[in-house]
Amino acid sequence: MKDSFGREINYLRISLTDRCNLRCEYCMPEKGVDKLQHEDILTLEDMFELVKVFVELGINKIRLTGGEPLVRLGVVDFISKISNLNGIKEITMTTNGVLLKDYAQELKKAGLNRINISLDTLDKDKYKEITRGGDLYKVLDGIEAAREAGLTPIKINTVLIGGFNEDEIPKMVNLTREHNMDVRFIELMPIGEAAAFASHKFIPNSKVLESVKVLKRVENEDKSSPATYFKLPDGKGKVGIINPISCKFCSNCNRVRLTSTGKLKLCLHSNREIDLRKPLKNKEDIKTIISDAILSKEEEHHLEDKKYITRNMNQIGG
Ligand code: SAM
Ligand code: SF4
Repeated sequence: MKDSFGREINYLRISLTDRCNLRCEYCMPEKGVDKLQHEDILTLEDMFELVKVFVELGINKIRLTGGEPLVRLGVVDFISKISNLNGIKEITMTTNGVLLKDYAQELKKAGLNRINISLDTLDKDKYKEITRGGDLYKVLDGIEAAREAGLTPIKINTVLIGGFNEDEIPKMVNLTREHNMDVRFIELMPIGEAAAFASHKFIPNSKVLESVKVLKRVENEDKSSPATYFKLPDGKGKVGIINPISCKFCSNCNRVRLTSTGKLKLCLHSNREIDLRKPLKNKEDIKTIISDAILSKEEEHHLEDKKYITRNMNQIGG
């Protein structure tokens, strides 16, 4: 369906859980998140009921994220059920890749089309530091497993962190020369846990183009994507830069978000949320509630007002 600014809303991002097997410094508190009450979290059955309504309203692309989507039990069956819905064109996932080696084949069989894997460094000690304990080799094995399973084209998401990984930009870009995968650099967002962290470590994405001067701009077929794409002269994959802070892509925004607690978020950069769990339980007309909500989607975000959002990224899913 179209929102009140004429944007076709066809993309739903679902945060399956706010829990994670890593503790990235810019995303999660070191001690992890408080365990939510069981009754506060949507069951996958309830989530599926909501997905059916979203699909009736014109959602045809779904991304599963988190927290870490692969720590949610039942994720493979959930994908299978969604992929059987009429109208679904694409199911994707954003994962840290740690469990991907075990899941890649099953995910593909269940109907997952492709995958984005988050990786901020290729150095095992730095990986351990930024994720507070993660094992780089598990992620590299996960990437290989995703490739073998055909969860392609693979996109690697790299958050640019000042004083941490800007020296690795050429090495990350080189992955697109050697492999048919895209590497996308994301500016650090001042969200929740990262609000203080980001003010010290933010570096603009223009740093990528300064570091690798031979990158040439290429057309992006997906107009609603927040990424601007470039390529090495002999690159197999593309290099994306995503500037959620310094550029706006609101006018092409086609997405809404659902949290694991059943909150509909119409804009990543807004604290506004619409509860869908209670009306679902009370058998209210959930289709009307969702379509009214989509009609009230904000025209654009206003991060420059410094009204940073309070939820952590692990609750929203990026
Ligand atoms: N756990 C999965 C993962 O890491 O891919 C999915 C959830 S994670 C919240 C989704 C994406 O958000 C990741 O690529 C992560 O790097 C990014 N992210 C988290 N906090 C961020 C922040 N403060 N600024 C920019 N990106 C962030
Ligand atoms: Fe977990 Fe992803 Fe957040 Fe890292 S970015 S703590 S992997 S949810």
